[in-house]
Amino acid sequence: MPRIVLSTDETLTSTYHDVPLLDFLGCAPIDKLPNCIFRILDSQTPDNNGSLTMAPYGLRKIEAALLAQGFKRKEVVVAHPRKIEQFIDDKTTIVALYEMDPMGLGPVSMMFTNGGKWTNYTSVKFKELVERINRVRERKGYKFKLVVGGPGAWQVDFRKEERKKLKIDHVIIGEADHVAGDIFRDIETGNANETVYIKSWPRVDEIPTIVAPSYKGLIEVMRGCGRGCRFCEPNLRVARYLPLEKIEEEIKLNITAGIDHAWLHSEDIFLYKVEDKKNFYPNAEAVIELFETATKYTKNVNPTHGAIAGALANPGMIEEISRIVGANGRHWIGIQVGFETASPELIGKYMNNKMKPFSPEEWPWVLLNGTYVLNKNYWFPAYTTILGLPGETEEDEIMTAQLIITIERELEEKLGNRAHFTVTPLAFIPMGLLKDREFFNVEEMMTEGRFLHLYHAWRHLYKEVIRGLPMVMRGNPFLLPFYPLARLGARLVVEHIRKWGIRRGFNPDKRLEPLDVRIDVDEHRWYPAPSLIEAY
Ligand code: SF4
Repeated sequence: MPRIVLSTDETLTSTYHDVPLLDFLGCAPIDKLPNCIFRILDSQTPDNNGSLTMAPYGLRKIEAALLAQGFKRKEVVVAHPRKIEQFIDDKTTIVALYEMDPMGLGPVSMMFTNGGKWTNYTSVKFKELVERINRVRERKGYKFKLVVGGPGAWQVDFRKEERKKLKIDHVIIGEADHVAGDIFRDIETGNANETVYIKSWPRVDEIPTIVAPSYKGLIEVMRGCGRGCRFCEPNLRVARYLPLEKIEEEIKLNITAGIDHAWLHSEDIFLYKVEDKKNFYPNAEAVIELFETATKYTKNVNPTHGAIAGALANPGMIEEISRIVGANGRHWIGIQVGFETASPELIGKYMNNKMKPFSPEEWPWVLLNGTYVLNKNYWFPAYTTILGLPGETEEDEIMTAQLIITIERELEEKLGNRAHFTVTPLAFIPMGLLKDREFFNVEEMMTEGRFLHLYHAWRHLYKEVIRGLPMVMRGNPFLLPFYPLARLGARLVVEHIRKWGIRRGFNPDKRLEPLDVRIDVDEHRWYPAPSLIEAY
């Protein structure tokens, strides 16, 4: 039996029938969505005698780090959460769980659970798994330590009472690639703190290459960001770029295992190997070469995240990537993008590099024209905004609602059916350099401006479900019966938000003027940005 058992909760091992964005289902409240919805939409990754055939990327990194730092292959297993018991016996020293949102305190969960009033599905599954592990430990009198790590580990440390009840021995916070072996050995010998804070970062050559397939072919191309948004955890990390050879090795490993997909994970794909750290002009050659390298192995290449300013700073780069991956009306490139707020003041205060090479004053224009550049080249941005940024005013919130309406109207006028984007408002979570601020409480802190921001984002999402979903559903027959259900579900959510607002005395039909910005990127073949012309 293995000495180290690695696993995760089952919301991170479901493929969700490969429906885009359904990976967020774990954030939904179990109190409001009937359990059967989860059961129908859940499709677990197959196991190989109990081991995961593909595992979350972060878990694969820890596995690779342990193997590179002295543990033998037979001593480490990555177990399917539903089969974890079969790997635990008296030889087991550590059971370690990789978690993203174990207590439901992440921004998406806090939004969907009414500020934590309800319980998200992930926290239920996390607790179920921990209780099963504890039952084995207690029944058999085993002495192994139960450890939680990963990007959501801070939540376990934050909820101290819960942590005690769940008998979690250690929490590991930080990047562990270069020190995993030492930390695990310290835990085994009883020399580790209850919460292990890792203060150092691995150099690129200390980040191990994964040794087994990663979930849906996700691989990391860079770590950290560098744009410096004050609410953001990845921003606290130094930006590092993985070399093409390493990236290629991981893609090949996944493709050989039958995963015909390469998700290029970064905080901002357009910053890959960026050289201009002042204005953040993309290093277009490096970004294009990255996509060329990935498409040697599969045409199904997608970035995970990107900043809209990078796309607008070099539309030619976007066009070229679309050509490389064969994007067209039947094959769109999805990307998650931070919209955050329409307010130039707030963006300048908390995220004053996010819009670079443009200026904070140009931010609404950047969002409109950047979305146009993406859509024109068959990129589908899924935006997130923040509700409850410290110091925001009613005008800031109303402006965000106005910009959503403006982008919708302007894009439809210019691109017709090729106009696609979604906006998902998320509750502000005190993280990064704003750790000491207050969590946004949906119930208590809602104002009419915030309500209008929320309502217009969901109203637009409903429109996208009607217009965009049939396009996404093409090629996935599992989804066809769900189209009417998704349509109905989205309509009910919008109606629910509307009635909820009216009950609080807000006016969902309040007349909002579109903002005074227009799509004119095609008319200006200027690079750099207008705000910087004089500087150059
Ligand atoms: S651009 Fe995104 S990843 Fe980078 S610091 Fe800002 S919020 Fe964080």
